[in-house]
Amino acid sequence: MSYVEQVLANLKKNNPNEPEFHQAATEILTTLAPVVEAHPEYEKAGLLERFVEPERVIMFRVPWVDDSGKVRVNKGYRVQFNSAIGPYKGGLRFHPSVNLSIIKFLGLEQILKNSLTGLPIGGGKGGSDFDPKGKSDREVMAFCQSFMTELYRHIGPDTDVPAGDIGVGGREIGFLFGQYKRIRDEHVGVLTGRGLSYGGSLVRTEATGYGLVYITEEALKVRGDSFKGKTVVISGSGNVAIYACQKAQSLGAKVVALYDSNGYIYDAEGIKLDVVKDIKEVKRGRIKEYAERVKGAKYVEGCKGIWTIPCDIALPCATQNEIDKQSAEILVKNGVKYVAEGANMPSTLEAIEVFQKNGVVFLPAKAANAGGVATSALEMAQSSGRMFWSFEEVDAKLKNIMVNIYHNIENAAKDYGYEGNYVMGANIAGFIKVADAMMAHGVV
Ligand code: NDP
Repeated sequence: MSYVEQVLANLKKNNPNEPEFHQAATEILTTLAPVVEAHPEYEKAGLLERFVEPERVIMFRVPWVDDSGKVRVNKGYRVQFNSAIGPYKGGLRFHPSVNLSIIKFLGLEQILKNSLTGLPIGGGKGGSDFDPKGKSDREVMAFCQSFMTELYRHIGPDTDVPAGDIGVGGREIGFLFGQYKRIRDEHVGVLTGRGLSYGGSLVRTEATGYGLVYITEEALKVRGDSFKGKTVVISGSGNVAIYACQKAQSLGAKVVALYDSNGYIYDAEGIKLDVVKDIKEVKRGRIKEYAERVKGAKYVEGCKGIWTIPCDIALPCATQNEIDKQSAEILVKNGVKYVAEGANMPSTLEAIEVFQKNGVVFLPAKAANAGGVATSALEMAQSSGRMFWSFEEVDAKLKNIMVNIYHNIENAAKDYGYEGNYVMGANIAGFIKVADAMMAHGVV
């Protein structure tokens, strides 16, 4: 059994019932085989065993009182996975599906993603099985305050800097920050994605979606192509999906579909984003309303059907494992040329194989959605320097980072003999820097 196979087998044995963590670890470790073969010293140093074991896992009770006066209890998590190249950094996800396996898969991915940005940030992730959907603002505040009342002792601007993710947007970050400041009596950059009035950065809201489109634009550009006139399908209708849609449209693409967890909308004329923003950002409503408000648009119950819509470019921006083998085959049959992942691990391992075998340009999440965390790191830089950069300045830095990521992963894939395989390229390029730092630190 090779070193990689051994580490994977042990990981599965020692972390049972964590299918998402196994999936992410399998995707990453199997692609690292050529690097590990080139560096026999890694095995002696137990580097991969340490790489897949979080430095610290924090799990805690989050009690809060709902509007009827009833006490509710949720689970809270923070996985501080790897701090070799910088303080832990990664979002908080509030969604009923959250469990340790999901937080660990996200944390492991985050290590390599953060490394790819070229900025000094380690990997972490956290969250809760709390569902903000349908809760009043007061209930969300009560939950966030209780969550932070435990989390505050584990985080800090030089230790661990959480941000948003599914179910955690500006409102939640505001409540979390307010409670941290109240307990610690410190106004510091301990969370990113903050409001502009209290230390946030311009472009952070747009960053993941914009970044996704910037890296896809670069992939198109090196092939003598562009977004202009392309038909695009985007899943989700949250933060990442909305700003991916906005940037793609501004580059001349026609985005024809979006979804939420109930169903998808199809608008052959092109999605009217102002209507979507009003429904999702202002009213916190359901995407179904779009079809009631826009003539000619249709709504279909259930999400999976979105991948049967013919498109040139697919941007999955909702959640993990939303594209399975069957959906990937339909996308290919319908002529998709580019798939770039805005969400984390939206394609199953089998779906990725289908894309790669059929010559689809496939940009994996850790590269394609790194714009969010990269801009979070720019927010951290502004906080420490007590500076505030203009929209144009941050946007230009973001674009530059995404273009660099594209070329880094392309070159890494080429250097190891896997030209065009961006999964290999992203894992290898992200890993090398972390591995170097871990080797330099000794056995820690
Ligand atoms: P939001 O909460 O803003 O939006 C999530 C969207 O996905 C909503 O439309 C939601 O629908 C839908 N969704 C969530 N879970 C499911 C599900 N199980 N099935 C179908 N649809 C679902 O989250 P974000 O836009 O911030 O995050 C989306 C993805 O992007 C996640 O994978 C996240 O990890 C990733 N990401 C986000 C970053 C960021 O900066 N925000 C950075 C990097 C990655 P509904 O409203 O019905 O729940």
